[in-house]
Amino acid sequence: MSVQAFRSRRVVTPEGVRPAVVEVRDGIVAALHSHEHALAGVELHDVGDAVLMPGLVDTHVHVNEPGRTEWEGFDAATRAAAAGGVTTLVDMPLNSVPATVDVAALETKRDAARDRCAVDVGFLGGAVPGNAAALRGLHEAGVLGFKCFMVPSGVDEFPACPAPDLERALASLAPLGALLMAHAESATALALATPPAHTRSYAAYAASRPAAAETEAVALLVALAERHRARVHVVHVSSGATVGLLAAARARGVPVTAETCPHYLHFTAEDVPEGATEHKCAPPIRGAADREALWRGLEGGVLDVIVSDHSPCPPELKAKESGDFMAAWGGVASLQLGLRVVWTGMRARGLPLERLAAWMCEGPARLVGLGARKGAIAPGHDADFVIWHPEREATVRAEEILSRHRITPYVGARLAGVVDSTWVRGRRVYAVDAGVSGATGQLLHREAARV
Ligand SMILES: [Zn+2]
Repeated sequence: MSVQAFRSRRVVTPEGVRPAVVEVRDGIVAALHSHEHALAGVELHDVGDAVLMPGLVDTHVHVNEPGRTEWEGFDAATRAAAAGGVTTLVDMPLNSVPATVDVAALETKRDAARDRCAVDVGFLGGAVPGNAAALRGLHEAGVLGFKCFMVPSGVDEFPACPAPDLERALASLAPLGALLMAHAESATALALATPPAHTRSYAAYAASRPAAAETEAVALLVALAERHRARVHVVHVSSGATVGLLAAARARGVPVTAETCPHYLHFTAEDVPEGATEHKCAPPIRGAADREALWRGLEGGVLDVIVSDHSPCPPELKAKESGDFMAAWGGVASLQLGLRVVWTGMRARGLPLERLAAWMCEGPARLVGLGARKGAIAPGHDADFVIWHPEREATVRAEEILSRHRITPYVGARLAGVVDSTWVRGRRVYAVDAGVSGATGQLLHREAARV
C-alpha cells in the first residue's frame, strides 16, 4: 500500500478552509488530521501556505475526437486540463464524428481516449431526434448524463430536438433518474431576430441572439421537467432574466439545475474589441447588468456550477482575418484558465474559496453522479488535488496554452491565481516547473461512482 501525506495551512474541505494534514492511501483520501499531525515513515508533501483544494470537475468540454481531432483531442485537452487544475472532465457528445448518440459511438470514443488522457474523463450521451430508444443503452453503458440542443448545434450530425423529441427523451430518461443537459435557445425566438450578413461588432452579433430566446427556451424546459419529473440542467446561462426564471422554478420544486461559464462572468459584450472572434459563443456574452446578475445567481444558489464550455476550433474557422462574427465558429477555449478567470472575479467581489470549490469541484461532481468520489477532500474520495496560490497574479501568455490551438480571449489578461501542481488519485500529473507528465487518466463510467 502507498501512503502519502499532504500538509497545508489552507485545505479546502466541505466544512471550510482549515490547516490540516491529508492522509492518502492508494490514491484515496483516508483521513484529515490536525496540521501538526505526523505520519511516521510517510512521503510528506508540505505545501505551506499554498491552497490544497479538490481538483476541478469540468462537466462541459468539447474534445471533438474522433472526427475533428484537428480542432482539439484527448491528449491536448487533458494536458490543458491538468495545467489548469482540472482533474476530471466530461466530454460533450457532439463535434466528434460519430456523435455519441448510441453505444457503438460511445465505444468508438472510449477507444480514442483510452491511455491518452492526463486526467480522468467521463462521457455524455446525445439526445437527438429519433434516438430515444438508444438512451437507455447509453445510460447502462455508463454515460454520466445526456445533452440535447433546442436550436441547430452548428454540426449537421447532431440535430436539434423540437419539443416532441424533447418529450420523448425526457420520458425515457425520467424513470432512469438520468440527467438531460440542454442548450436552451428558442428557434422561434431566434427566427424573429434579423442577423446582419457580416459584422465585426460583438454587440451586433449578440443582438442577433437575444436573451429572450434563452428565457423562452428555459420556460419550455421548466414546464417539461415539471411534467415528467425529469432532471433537467440548463447549460451556459447567459442572462439575468433566465436567472429570475430559474429562481421561480426552483422555488416551486422543479428539478432543474443550471450552469454558467467563465466568459459570461468575465467579459461584457461592450468590451469585446472589433473583430475579436475568439470571444464568439452561443448564447452570446451580454452586458454588464447580465454579468452581475449571473454572479448574484451563483451567490444566491440559483446557478449551481461554473464549467468551461471549452469549444475550440482551428484558427481558420475563427475567421480571424475578416473578424466577421457571423462567419466565425462559436466557442470559447478556456479549459486551462477557468480556475484563474473565476477566482479573479470572485476576489474582486470578496467571495471566499469555499464557494469556488462548491461551484467548480463539488457541484459539478454531484451534477453528473460523481459526488461520492470526486470534487471534495473528504475520506473515501479520490485524492484529486490542485495546489495553488490565490494571491499570486500572472498575465496569460499564448505560449502556456496546451490546447491544440492557442486561441483564447484571455491572452494578455492579468489573472489572480497560479497553479503549482495538480494530482489525480495521488499521482502528480502537472507541476509548474515540470509541466504535464503521463497519460494515466481513467475513463469514468457511471457505475464507477462509489455510493
Ligand atoms: Zn458546449
